[in-house]
Amino acid sequence: LKTSSALSQISQDSSNPSHATFDLFVQAQSCQDVKLHFAELCRQLEINSKDFRNFYNKLKEKLNYWKAKTLWTKLDKRASHADYQQGKACKNNKCLVLGAGPCGLRTAIELALLGAQVVLLEKRESFSRNNVLHLWPYTIYDLRGLGAKKFYGKFCSGALDHVSIRQLQLILLKASLLLGVEVHTGVEFEGLVDPSGENGWMAKLQPRTHPAASFQFDVFVSAGGGRFVPDGFKHKELRGQLAIGITANFINRNTAAEAQVAEISGVARIYNQKFFQDLLSQTGIDLENIVYYKDDTHYFVMTAKKKSLLKKGVIKQDFSNAEQLLAAANTDEEALNQYAYDAASFSTGGKLPDLQFALNPNGKPDVAMFDFTCMYRAENASMVREKRGKKLLMSLVGDCLVEPFWPLGTGIARGFFAVFDTAWMVRSWGLGVPHLKVLAERESIYQLLSQTTPENTSKNYAAYCINPKTRYCRINLSSIQPHQYCVNLVRVCVC
Ligand code: FAD
Repeated sequence: LKTSSALSQISQDSSNPSHATFDLFVQAQSCQDVKLHFAELCRQLEINSKDFRNFYNKLKEKLNYWKAKTLWTKLDKRASHADYQQGKACKNNKCLVLGAGPCGLRTAIELALLGAQVVLLEKRESFSRNNVLHLWPYTIYDLRGLGAKKFYGKFCSGALDHVSIRQLQLILLKASLLLGVEVHTGVEFEGLVDPSGENGWMAKLQPRTHPAASFQFDVFVSAGGGRFVPDGFKHKELRGQLAIGITANFINRNTAAEAQVAEISGVARIYNQKFFQDLLSQTGIDLENIVYYKDDTHYFVMTAKKKSLLKKGVIKQDFSNAEQLLAAANTDEEALNQYAYDAASFSTGGKLPDLQFALNPNGKPDVAMFDFTCMYRAENASMVREKRGKKLLMSLVGDCLVEPFWPLGTGIARGFFAVFDTAWMVRSWGLGVPHLKVLAERESIYQLLSQTTPENTSKNYAAYCINPKTRYCRINLSSIQPHQYCVNLVRVCVC
């Protein structure tokens, strides 16, 4: 039996428009809907979302709704960590974050918690990546702490340890907005604009007249993904043997029959020779490995051998150059779809009934073939530029810093480590630590990133914060000395 106070609470909830809008915001399943319901919520509560310093507290004060309170409890817990100094550590900093992928959004959240003004730019209008990411335990813990389960009830339920990229983006977008981050989609970053006259560092954007083009900032974080390298940063190429990946997404109708089909969390050839031999003899498909995750879609990712792709007519003509080999003009789309379909069907024993491709944003079957022969890694994680006495701290995070080798599933885990390390650096910058020291410490920490595994990092996830000592077991924050190395990371323009 419901108590009378619970009943009156329910009737109040259903009659209060801002409560209904909050529910819509929390449940929104597209980037546009999240932004739309957020704007409506701000309008109904008469809160200016640009008032980043007070936004979260005003929202908490005005939205007196029990469902929101459970979320505030989580966000308050994170925000109360001593590292953020009650949102005062970076109160005078203005940060531009490039890219609303998982790492850009996660960075924006940390910078907002430090009290900085944060503007985030994303060139796409929608979050449409169905591909599913395997998550390390600490990232699941971290995301739960930001309210992931509130925003997406199915988030890593039970033993599940994966989420689609788009759901991850939606979770982080919602948390970012609540914490006062200004998010602009449909706007492309084209480069930095040097300080001139009274103006500080700004960004050249497309469209040119976009309001964010007048934002002046002293911190720039690029999370623009694998191939986006801001001016001044150098990338090293790590070249392996030719490696061809295929991803495919099929509609998940969430039927009982679908629920019964077991996931494949990474079958590599060396561990199951028979499976791959049977696959080859029965279908002509030759793979190195295959992964199947059940999420919003049935998601498959596999590494295919060139010879079988040629034989099955997926690749039309053999070239030694991987770019030419996998160019759209050299690929038969229908044959690729059939290849992915047959691999998916065989590996699930034909038990997924009525396999039908999910569609990509172009309305075509969501199947992609990609080359991961070369992986890129930035030589440095940070840099300072100075012009007309105006300093700009620059940093790389996510794939833009280190492109992960996908079969290892390290993208988000190492991506978020770099996010926290960057936030730690911005904190030092905000607290007035000399810039050479800031850079030296960041580069010292960066040296560890590519060696991190779930085993050699701290298991005390509850203690994780932006301080690297809470996460890396053996860390020397001054392995790089400011004056030997970091002078090269400061570009002063005397013009
Ligand atoms: P992205 O997700 O690439 O986001 C970059 C964003 O920046 C994009 O939204 C882009 O539109 C935007 N952008 C780029 N340029 C501009 C510009 N000029 N102006 C404005 N916006 C711009 N990782 C895991 O952790 N686990 C896995 O199991 C896993 N599996 C994978 C499987 C495959 C097949 C692949 C290819 C990758 C896999 N990864 C996995 C890696 C993971 O997808 C990435 O590490 C992760 O998406 C990186 O996030 P990010 O935010 O750095 O970059």
